[in-house]
Amino acid sequence: MTVSITHYIDGQRSAGENAQTQPVFNPATGEVSGQVVLASPQDVDSAVSAAQAGFPAWADTPPIRRARVMFRFLELLNAHKDELAEAITKEHGKVFTDAQGEVARGIDIVEFACGIPQLLKGDYTEQVSTGIDNWTMRQPLGVVAGITPFNFPVMVPMWMFPVAIATGNTFILKPSPLDPSASLMIADLLKQAGLPDGVFNVVQGDKGSVEALIDHPDVKALSFVGSTPIANLIYERGAKHGKRVQALGGAKNHMVVMPDANLDKAVDALIGAAYGSAGERCMAISVAVLVGDVADGVVAQLAERAKALKVKDGMQLDAEMGPIVTRQAHERITGYINKGVEEGAELVVDGRDFDAEQTGDGCAGGFWMGGTLFDHVTPEMTIYKEEIFGPVLVCVRVPDIATAIQLINDHEFGNGVSCFTESGNVAREFGRRIQVGMVGINVPIPVPMAWHGFGGWKRSLFGDMHAYGEEGVRFYTKQKSIMQRWSDSIDTGAEFVMPTAK
Ligand code: NAD
Repeated sequence: MTVSITHYIDGQRSAGENAQTQPVFNPATGEVSGQVVLASPQDVDSAVSAAQAGFPAWADTPPIRRARVMFRFLELLNAHKDELAEAITKEHGKVFTDAQGEVARGIDIVEFACGIPQLLKGDYTEQVSTGIDNWTMRQPLGVVAGITPFNFPVMVPMWMFPVAIATGNTFILKPSPLDPSASLMIADLLKQAGLPDGVFNVVQGDKGSVEALIDHPDVKALSFVGSTPIANLIYERGAKHGKRVQALGGAKNHMVVMPDANLDKAVDALIGAAYGSAGERCMAISVAVLVGDVADGVVAQLAERAKALKVKDGMQLDAEMGPIVTRQAHERITGYINKGVEEGAELVVDGRDFDAEQTGDGCAGGFWMGGTLFDHVTPEMTIYKEEIFGPVLVCVRVPDIATAIQLINDHEFGNGVSCFTESGNVAREFGRRIQVGMVGINVPIPVPMAWHGFGGWKRSLFGDMHAYGEEGVRFYTKQKSIMQRWSDSIDTGAEFVMPTAK
């Protein structure tokens, strides 16, 4: 059955003014499962007006009462987490257990946001000068917007709105049109949790809706997560309007395997981190950097494991990898594999050969591909330089750790990185010298926990503050300093010199 996936404005689902829609697919079968509406600038304006109208009362609501709404939302999320996970699998394609993990990591941020009264406490100094006290407070910005990618339709919005709302802002989510259903489920749960109408809104769409949000004078800040070229554009366009922008972009994450590493565990880590979620994670490992004489053995094990991956409909409980999100993404990834072969990399396992019939009834029309493994990849090759965002792992052989660190530091992206070693000295030096925002030592996907904040370096993040955690609280609030004294302490007479502590 084809359903209509609408906007959510001022506490109501709304089809909007625009008749234009875009099909939403089940990537396992290739069938159209829904039609998502695409916002016109008028629809965006309606959402912004609702959020603007809701702002004064919500900003004035004591933080403890905002936190109580978050607590009720948390309970509802826990009660409905499997429904959310199923919605993710049916539109994104990732396996159900992975989707459950995504929801769980989103829930972490809601738990963090429940502690907002503590996080919003300001600093206070008594007696900065005789009879004068000085304190700081953090206040919400107003209407803020979040623009999110297809690969985490629940978790990435939850990097943003729980913190934005708990700090007293009103929020407009513009989800990816590829898997938009979860956004409406979230809106319904927030309403049930007692969130006032207008505080959380959803506008569906793509480029046009995003541009209308960036250019709207009442939208004070934008959080964006997606590919680097778009992150860059949004950062520049938002900054031109004087807005606060946090734009997280693409990645090419390396994992270094040192000769002293536990190789079985390193291979397990590479297989899971390269092919989990079909490589469609911004923290996926897409480059194995094999140091010294480990290379032949690691590549042989990786090849065996990549060929044996259980690539199936994500709702089957033993599935390890699901389909690719869209036919276009499948074609893009296939193009990269072709390019790798043309440029002289050694294709050890070819995911293009994957036989869709293996996936069972009704799946042959889906966007299927197996895991791909390349060896003898060099830094000049396109498959090394560019983000493929699919189940393709490339192996680069280097002689020592210094060359590995240089290779990684020379890459334009700096999102995540990992080093497998048993040496404390190597681990320490690696952590200090690497030019990457999120580092794992024997941890392949080092996504920081809710209170630590998420963000890459270099062209993986435009803006200076990371998502969620205390940086998220700072992003969604502005600091005010108040200095106060009362008349008993005020000397008579005008002062013409710079005031100093007396
Ligand atoms: P995308 O850049 O195509 O889309 C992201 C969002 O931008 C979507 O909401 C989309 O509708 C919108 N959009 C698309 N084209 C636009 C345009 N021309 N102007 C304005 N908005 C536009 O990304 P995607 O394919 O949905 O997601 C995959 C990308 O996201 C990868 O590059 C991945 O690395 C990145 N990502 C990064 C992080 C991170 O934290 N750094 C996390 C998840 C995903």
